Amino acid sequence: MSDKQKVIEIKNIRKDFGNRTVLKDINFNVHEGEVVSIIGSSGSGKSTLLRCINLLETPTSGQILIHGKDVLNGDVPLVELREKVGMVFQQFNLFNNLSVLDNCVIGQMKVLKRTRQEAEKVAKKFLGKVGMSRFINAKPNQISGGQKQRVAIARALSMEPEVLLFDEPTSALDPEMVGEVLKVMKDLAKSGLTMIVVTHEMDFAHDVSSRVVFMDQGIILEDDKPEIIFEKPKHNRTKEFLFRML
Ligand code: ADP
Ligand code: MG
Repeated sequence: MSDKQKVIEIKNIRKDFGNRTVLKDINFNVHEGEVVSIIGSSGSGKSTLLRCINLLETPTSGQILIHGKDVLNGDVPLVELREKVGMVFQQFNLFNNLSVLDNCVIGQMKVLKRTRQEAEKVAKKFLGKVGMSRFINAKPNQISGGQKQRVAIARALSMEPEVLLFDEPTSALDPEMVGEVLKVMKDLAKSGLTMIVVTHEMDFAHDVSSRVVFMDQGIILEDDKPEIIFEKPKHNRTKEFLFRML
């Protein structure tokens, strides 16, 4: 694929917490429309990597380019980065004092400077896409975990990001609610949204991803098509991880 289509380039990213190195020389690219699943054991650095991409953490060294622009040297102002790179968290991170609709409206008004009327229109469109139209006036404590996560996805989509990061979006859910969230994510993948998804849902990684990245102790051990990772992994560590997961 040509350079033009690269949405994100990660070059030699290293992250230290004190004297502990949790990301060591991470390199990978994400092209437009790709769905990249990141898998690996707890503590391997998956969340830290995602958080570095939207600068919730500052990498110790290395380069992150979004559409060729360096986000660490200030080429992309932080507000613009946050517009372009959305994030969905394990714990939803909704504002509990705001209605479902207002959760999806407030960022648009503050960051994108949309009027309330414009922002509500966009929010309602995406709340419809995730099947939450009936709940726009509910508060987060009146809806289920699966519904909260669907609202969190609608909120992220309302910012019309170029890439959406997901950090274990189904890990905090009761098992019977995992499917409804994965269904929304599958639909988004089909619609051509560029996504990076940290997940323990191996079926999702296998069936929906364009690529699967296996992280192990702060490095990317394998980055390949799902059929290679799941059927012909090159490394024993990948095999052992998959054996535990499948
Ligand atoms: P994963 O998401 O793969 O479970 P994390 O990226 O959360 O892994 O964590 C990788 C390592 O970095 C872990 O050992 C974790 O304890 C450590 N770590 C993460 N965040 C911090 C932090 N803010 N301060 C110190 N250590 C951290
Ligand atoms: Mg994590």
